[in-house]
Parts: sequence; C-alpha cells; structure tokens
Amino acid sequence: MRIMSRNSSDMVYHRPECRYAGKIRKKNRIKMEWEDAEWKGYRPCKCCDGIEFLYKLEKDRIERYAGQSNMNVDLKDKKVYVRTDVGCWKIIYKIREQSFILLHRNYVNGRVCLEDVEKAPFHRQGDIPEAGSIMKYLKYIKEHDEFKQNAPKDYRKLPQNTERQKLYYRMAKKREEKRSAKRLDGLFLMIEKQEGIKQLSCC
Ligand SMILES: [Zn+2]
Ligand SMILES: [Zn+2]
Repeated sequence: MRIMSRNSSDMVYHRPECRYAGKIRKKNRIKMEWEDAEWKGYRPCKCCDGIEFLYKLEKDRIERYAGQSNMNVDLKDKKVYVRTDVGCWKIIYKIREQSFILLHRNYVNGRVCLEDVEKAPFHRQGDIPEAGSIMKYLKYIKEHDEFKQNAPKDYRKLPQNTERQKLYYRMAKKREEKRSAKRLDGLFLMIEKQEGIKQLSCC
C-alpha cells in the first residue's frame, strides 16, 4: 500500500513508514497499490524507495537473525551482502518492480571478507521468487545452507515434507539422472575402446 497527497503537484507516492507520508494531512491522504499509482502517473518517493530505507525498516530483525544464524549481513553500494559458511549472497532492490531479487555464489575456500565479495560472479538463485522483504531471503538462505550441509549423498534419503524439500528432491534426482547418463556415456566410450564388457558395473 502506498500513500500520496490529494493536492500536491509533485505526483509522488510514499510508503506508509516514510516521514513525508506522515506529513500529509489525513483529509488529503489517498491510498492505493503502487502499481495503480504508477499507472496514474505517480512516481516513487526518493526517500522511501531505496534499499537503504528498506534495510532500515527491517534492521533490528535482520541484525538479530544474522547474529543467531551466524551470518554476516552488510549494506554496501546499495546492495545487501549476506555471507555464511556455505555461500555468499547478494540482494538487489529493483525500483521498477519494487521488489528484491536474490543472487548467489558458492565459495572455493570458505567465507570471504566483505572486500572480496564481488571477486567472483554471482548467479540468480532460481528457486526463490522476487520478495518484498530482506528477512524473507535471510530465512531462505538459512534453509538453503542447512539443506546443503546436511544433505545426504543419496537423494532418495532426502526428506520430502515441505514444498521446498520436494523441489530439492526433484532437483537432486534430475542431477543424479544426468550424472548417471554421463557415466553411461563414458562407459560406452570405454567399451568401444577396449572391447569386452568385463568392466561393466552397476553404478
Ligand atoms: Zn517517501
Ligand atoms: Zn545458487
């Protein structure tokens, strides 16, 4: 929900938490969804539509959660970087869509320092949609890490209780199928080269 003034000429809309929204008199207040406001020609307020403002809104919860979960969470160059023992994450705010997206990269040698976060490329994390809050991503990251650390080598032993677990199960299954297809290809190559099928084994 966004707030704007009935009789202002600047055609700007605010989040309810913005100090400028607080200054609009009650009788002049209009409320609507941001998509409708955009459609009517309003533009987002520069004060309350940036990642800094949104980070501040959730700051207490973010810091508490980061502390409990052994995460480093930093706001740097208008991006939020999350570093855990398992991977490095980047949260970007897309003003045009008014939502965050999540990018990810794995480490080679354990947790990197903040100065080095951009030294390797990130990929868009595919199994989580755009979100309206940073906290939502932190919770996802924690779940992702726990899964990665505890995942059994055999995908058939993976739990399948939640929707996400089911998704991971399917992904792991696909990966395994790909791997065995590759193994099979390799096997055939070997057989063609060496003749005989003595080395065939079930893998
Ligand atoms: Zn504002
Ligand atoms: Zn990833």
